[in-house]
Amino acid sequence: MRINVTKPFLPPIEEYSALVGGIFSSQWLTNNGPLVRQLETQLKHYLKLDRLGYVANGTMALQLAIRGLNLSGEIITTPFSFVATVSSIAWEHCRPVMADIDRDTLNIDPEQIRRAITRQTSAILATHVFGNPCDVYEIESIAREYGLKVIYDAAHAFGTVIDGESIFSWGDVTATSFHATKVFHTVEGGAVIARDPAVHEKLMTMRSFGQSGSEFIHIGTNAKNSEFHAAMGIANLLHIDEVLANRKALSDRYDEMLDGANVSGMLIRVPCVYNGAYYPVIFESETVLNRVLEALRQEDVFPRRYFFPSLSSLNYVGAQYTPIADDIATRVLALPLYHGLEIADVDRIARIVARECGPRRLHVPPTRHAYVERETLKAVG
Ligand SMILES: *Cc1c(COP(=O)(O)O)cnc(C)c1O
Repeated sequence: MRINVTKPFLPPIEEYSALVGGIFSSQWLTNNGPLVRQLETQLKHYLKLDRLGYVANGTMALQLAIRGLNLSGEIITTPFSFVATVSSIAWEHCRPVMADIDRDTLNIDPEQIRRAITRQTSAILATHVFGNPCDVYEIESIAREYGLKVIYDAAHAFGTVIDGESIFSWGDVTATSFHATKVFHTVEGGAVIARDPAVHEKLMTMRSFGQSGSEFIHIGTNAKNSEFHAAMGIANLLHIDEVLANRKALSDRYDEMLDGANVSGMLIRVPCVYNGAYYPVIFESETVLNRVLEALRQEDVFPRRYFFPSLSSLNYVGAQYTPIADDIATRVLALPLYHGLEIADVDRIARIVARECGPRRLHVPPTRHAYVERETLKAVG
């Protein structure tokens, strides 16, 4: 049977149907309906957040964040992310300026952020790539020093916890995605989490045409989401702890199986509860990567080249010098990891990878052991 990099989680159909039955009774299909509000309440409770606004998708969440914070000029961002991180900046008529990544964590390097700051810089938009926390402490201190706003693209980071709090609580705004391929999903969907209540209110009016009561107080857009999408989220949220635990077990198994093989992993440097969103492996060269891809394809296994090519190569971004991201992007592969993947398949995949890349010579161990055990979230103060 074909194995892809990911497979969306689906709740038991009766659980989803029961919620859809309610929609048919109420005939309230969209426009901030009861299930959208219920999902927001439950997510805030689960993630211990004061504020969260459910939106149409993660890309709209990013665009709303940029608009809502009134950004202009240059926004410093990462070349190693999904394209939406960078295209949202350009879409909002700002200029994406790339700061290279740290070669071990794969996240934006704070030192490179400092070097990229100019008088035109208005913000930093950083991705917690693969769910691995950015150096949020250093980024916060740079932002304070230079008076910059911070947006986090946390599309991969649902369930990652630092200092006893959801990682979504960092930044002026965190934007996340609930797309079908993410750890927690609502088919299509996303959310914005704003630190400042006034920014949250603004984002909530912008999500619905800028309407507040009977007035249109901002330029707005349509970033609302529907009752059917919210229903999927409510049904999925009942299973999220099991999903997260299963991902950790599968990741641990890959760690064990690849111990001693010539691959490096992503280093998790910020102490956290890692969510197991992805299992990236970095090979010695693109040649080895292609060899592994071909060997896996013969077994009907299809990992993905997340993220290739580096976003510095986008034609609308302009020349940027990010040699580390450009290099890593050619050598990194996300191995299959999803709820329902069998341990036997992890073993089979890992054996092929280990066979094709030979014994360990690379400098970074495939360490994912920096994470702390899943702890209780701190109560909101
Ligand atoms: C998936 C993803 C997005 C976009 O989210 P959508 O909900 O698909 O619009 C943005 N950034 C990153 C890093 C992503 O992985």
